[in-house]
Amino acid sequence: MTDKILSLRPNRSSLNRYLASYIRMAHDHDRQLGLLVMQVKRGQEFSALFGHNRTEALLENLAERLDEVCRRDDRIMRTGDFEFALILPDIMNEGHAVLAAHKVLRALTTPFEIDGNSISIGVQIGIALFPDHAAKPDTLMQHAALALNTAANTNQSYAVYTAAAPDEISDAWDIESELDAAMQNGEMEIYYQPKINLRGGLPCGAEALLRWQSPRRGLVPPSMFIPIALRTGQLKALTWSALNMALQHAASWPTRFGPLTVAVNISPSLLEDDSTLVSRVADAMAIWGTKPNRLTLEITESAVMRHPEVSFDTIRELKTRGVAVSIDDFGTGYSSLANFKSIPASELKIDKSFVMNILEDKADAGIVRTIVDLAQAFDLQVAAEGAESLEILKTLKSMGCHYAQGFYISQPLPPQEFAQFINEYTPETF
Ligand code: C2E
Ligand code: MG
Ligand code: MG
Repeated sequence: MTDKILSLRPNRSSLNRYLASYIRMAHDHDRQLGLLVMQVKRGQEFSALFGHNRTEALLENLAERLDEVCRRDDRIMRTGDFEFALILPDIMNEGHAVLAAHKVLRALTTPFEIDGNSISIGVQIGIALFPDHAAKPDTLMQHAALALNTAANTNQSYAVYTAAAPDEISDAWDIESELDAAMQNGEMEIYYQPKINLRGGLPCGAEALLRWQSPRRGLVPPSMFIPIALRTGQLKALTWSALNMALQHAASWPTRFGPLTVAVNISPSLLEDDSTLVSRVADAMAIWGTKPNRLTLEITESAVMRHPEVSFDTIRELKTRGVAVSIDDFGTGYSSLANFKSIPASELKIDKSFVMNILEDKADAGIVRTIVDLAQAFDLQVAAEGAESLEILKTLKSMGCHYAQGFYISQPLPPQEFAQFINEYTPETF
């Protein structure tokens, strides 16, 4: 290790001190300075699984990798249990700070070898610059932390602070208070996106997707309000009402293609800390007279892998009751093969980010093919979202994928229009 590393013991207050002196130097020499704060994803879970010593060994190895990619004058500090800060005391512009973030991300793509285990970790980075974003150390730290928060909320590997962030924050407050009223006033609706069976090309079900019809804001997409509802705890109530609305609607869907399944997204918090999840799902099914084989619950890969043991138990119980569980956004949540092999799911749902580019991007096509093969090897169904063209549907089918949904087949539709879609559907041969 070199003198680039200032501290390996978690220590946030000395960052403030170091930053103050580096900012002073940057100011005196008329230079720009970059601050990167980096958080290891699922650090707590890692430490629960592997224990203190291995976690510390991992973080030390991580610091060494940072050391390798940093320039001579850069400084590295551990600022929290799973958090590091990088000070880049002399950069030309924002692009340089982003480049440094890319270098760090690339350096961490190779798995770490700890006690003979090969361990992959993910990180997220927030970036703020002196003097563009702040002149004082604590404000600079705060702005880098806000950028990190943005990266985490938007599921990106890094984000640069933008001055718009304070507005977004106050907007988030507004949304939080409006959401409660929206639920009371019946402004939440469910749209249905049809899903087809690639073998015969016929509709086999639909995914229920929340929409907020706000009198003030118009139709608000879930990407605007779900991350906020997740943070405030409002997503639980939203999810329960989505489940009930979906089961109610599905009871009167056309039966032209036989019974259709309905897929409902389950929020991570429900999976984690609601021990009544299974019985509440069973109650909802009983109320709306839903046969268990008509309901699929979609749970994101990252939610399942946050506390695999707890999630696996719940998924197993749901399956015992005949409810299918699909692992949503599969491919984005870093499940290790070791964890994956005991996943008790019924289906993998490949994230649209891979599917949409399958025709142009060889790597994405490779990922989709690998997931399909993996599903088949483990006797799981596999579905793809993001099928935006006939060519994509054909490719998915040739790879052996079972089901698909996407804008080529249909956008998500309001309940009435979904029923009409089913009644008028003409299967296409491909
Ligand atoms: P998701 O569960 O992965 O849902 C799939 C998203 O992909 C939907 O976005 C859908 O409209 C979009 N999509 C499907 N096909 C295509 C395509 O061909 N091209 C493109 N560009 N997009 C496509 P949507 O409706 O905006 O929902 C976003 C996310 O919000 C969902 O992702 C889900 O995570 C969350 N969400 C929606 N409804 C609920 C809900 O009732 N409960 C919970 N917990 N989360 C929900
Ligand atoms: Mg989904
Ligand atoms: Mg998805």
